[in-house]
Amino acid sequence: MTKDAKSQAKSHAKSHYEVIVVGAGVAGIYQIKRLLDLGIDATVVDSAPDLGGTWYWNRYPGCRFDSESYTYGYSFSRELLDEWHWKERFSGQPENLRYLNFVADKFDLRRHMQFNCAVEAAHFDETADLWRLKISDGRELSCRFVVLAVGLLSAPTLPRLPGLDSFKGRSFHTYYWPHEPVEIRGKKVAVIGTGATAIQIIGEIADKVGELTVFQRRPNWSAPLHNSPISDAEMADIRARYDEIFAACSRSPGGFEHEPDRRGFYDVTREERLQLWDKLYGEPGFGIWLANFREIFMDEAANAEFSAYVAERMRQRVKDPEVAETLIPRDHGFGVQRVPLETNYLEAYNRDNVHLVDISKTPIERITEKGLRTTAREYEFDIIVYATGFDAITGAYDRTDIRGVGGERLFDKWKDGPSTFLGMLSQGFPNLLMPTGPQSASATTNFPRGIETGVNWCTDLMRYMWDRGITRADPTRAAEERWTAHVTKMYEIMLMRKARGWFTGYNSNVDGHEAGKVRYFVYNGGTPKYVAAINEVAASGYEGIVFSSTAPPTARRLAANA
Ligand code: NAP
Repeated sequence: MTKDAKSQAKSHAKSHYEVIVVGAGVAGIYQIKRLLDLGIDATVVDSAPDLGGTWYWNRYPGCRFDSESYTYGYSFSRELLDEWHWKERFSGQPENLRYLNFVADKFDLRRHMQFNCAVEAAHFDETADLWRLKISDGRELSCRFVVLAVGLLSAPTLPRLPGLDSFKGRSFHTYYWPHEPVEIRGKKVAVIGTGATAIQIIGEIADKVGELTVFQRRPNWSAPLHNSPISDAEMADIRARYDEIFAACSRSPGGFEHEPDRRGFYDVTREERLQLWDKLYGEPGFGIWLANFREIFMDEAANAEFSAYVAERMRQRVKDPEVAETLIPRDHGFGVQRVPLETNYLEAYNRDNVHLVDISKTPIERITEKGLRTTAREYEFDIIVYATGFDAITGAYDRTDIRGVGGERLFDKWKDGPSTFLGMLSQGFPNLLMPTGPQSASATTNFPRGIETGVNWCTDLMRYMWDRGITRADPTRAAEERWTAHVTKMYEIMLMRKARGWFTGYNSNVDGHEAGKVRYFVYNGGTPKYVAAINEVAASGYEGIVFSSTAPPTARRLAANA
C-alpha cells in the first residue's frame, strides 16, 4: 500500500471530526493548514480526484490568472514565499496547480484530504450541535463545524439548448476540459460565449485550429493582459518586497497591487485623463480597471467617456470595422461587469480562419449531430466548446442538500438571493462557516487575499468557541438583516447594479437567475472596509452571534499518531 493509500484508508475508517472542510481548493488548503497547526482533528473532502479546486478543473487552453502571480500566492509562510519561483507575471493553470500541490506537500496536508467524496447532504443535528454529512461514497460523517470552501465559480452551467446530447463530435464545458491533450490542430471548433474564459481560449487557439467560429450573444469589454516571464533577478526583487506587496494589497479595495487614482475624474482635464488611460492600457494587469478613476464605477457620464476610449482602442486593433462594432458592448459600460484580460483576443478576429457570429441577431436554435443550427443556417464542427459560465457564488451551495435548524433548507432560504452575516454565517445554520461566502468581500477581491482573510476569521471564531467550551454559534436574525441591507445598499451607488453579470446573480441558464432579478452577491465596500467590519465584530466578542454550550463536548484534538 502506498503512503497516500494508507492515509486514505485510515481517514476513511473515521466517521467523526471536529471540523470537516468541504473543498480542497485554495481556501480548503489554507483552512486545513490553519486547523492542523492548532492540532484540531479535521479533514478535507472534495468531489474531485485530487486537490486544486478551480486549478484542478479548468484546464482549457489559455487558462491563467488575471492577478499578478506573486499577489495570488499564499502570504502565510515566509519559507513558502522564499521557496516558490513564479515564472510568469500572470501564471497559467498547469503552474498554478503545481503550486498548490507544492504547498500541500510542503506542509504534509494531503493525508488530511479525502478525494472523490462529494458531500451530497449536510444536516444539522440540533440535539448534539453536530453536522451530519452524507458522502457520495455512501459514508455518513459527523462534525462540530462544517467549513464550506466550495468556491465561487465551481458550479458550471450549460446552455439550455435542445439537442445537447445529439452532437457526434467532441463537446465540453470549459470547466471540464479533458485532462488528456485535445487534438485541435486543423479542427473546426466552435466556442459559445464571450466571457473571461472564452476570451482566454479564443486568443490562445485561434492560430492552432483549422477554423474557429465564435458565437457571441453579448459582447464583453476586455483589455490587454501584457503577460511576461519573471526572471530570477525579478523574483529576487519580488521576494525582498513581499511585505510591501501584501501591505499594498490589503490597502487597496480589490486586494491587488493596483490602487485607484484618487484624483477626481472631473478635477483633471480630458488630456490628463487620456494620459492616464494610455498608460494603463499599455500596462500589465487590472490597472485599467482598478487603478482608474473611481467615478468610472459610479458615474454614468464618466463611465461612458472611458468606455468610448476603450471602444476606440478596440477599433484600432480589429481590422474589419463591422467585426469591431459587433465586438463593442452597447448594453453596459466598461468595468461594470468583471473585466476579462486578454492576450491576442481582438487580433484573433483579424485572422481568416476566425469567424464571429452575432447570435443576438441569429440565435442558436439547437445543437445537431454535426454541429449547431442558428436561425440563419447550419454549422458543422469537430469540437464544440461551451464557455457558458457558472451558477456563480451560490451555485455550489444550491447543489448540496444543506439543512439547518428545524430542517430549513439553505436553498429555500436563499431562493431569491443569499442573506448572511458578514458573508460567512447564515442564521439558522449554526457552525456552518463560509470563509468566502456570498456577501463576503472575497469575490470582489484578488481571491486568495480574500480567502486568507475569511479563513483566518473563521478559524478565530472556532478558537474562541473551543477556548470557552461553546458548542454552537448562530448569528441573530437582526444582525444578518443589517449585514444584508448594508450589502444591498452598497449596490445602489455602483453602476454594476444594472449589469447582467455574475456579480448581480445573472445567469440565463439557471431558473430564477435571469436578467432583472438582482441578487446581492458581493460586498462592494472593498477590502479595508470589509476587514475593519469583521474585525470589529470579533473584537466585540462576536456581537451579533448567539453562542450556546448545551451539547456534550467532543474530542477535538488530533490524536498524536494521526
Ligand atoms: P461568464 O463571464 O458568465 O460568460 C459566459 C458567457 O457565455 C457569456 O458570454 C454568456 O453570454 C454566454 N452564454 C451563456 N449561456 C449562453 C447561451 N445559452 N447561449 C449563448 N451564449 C451563452 O463565464 P466565464 O467566461 O466562465 O467567466 C466567469 C468568471 O470566471 C469570470 O468573470 C472570472 O471571474 C472568472 N474567470 C477568471 C479568469 C482569470 O482569472 N483570468 C478566467 C476565466 C474566468 P450572455 O452574457 O449573453 O449571457
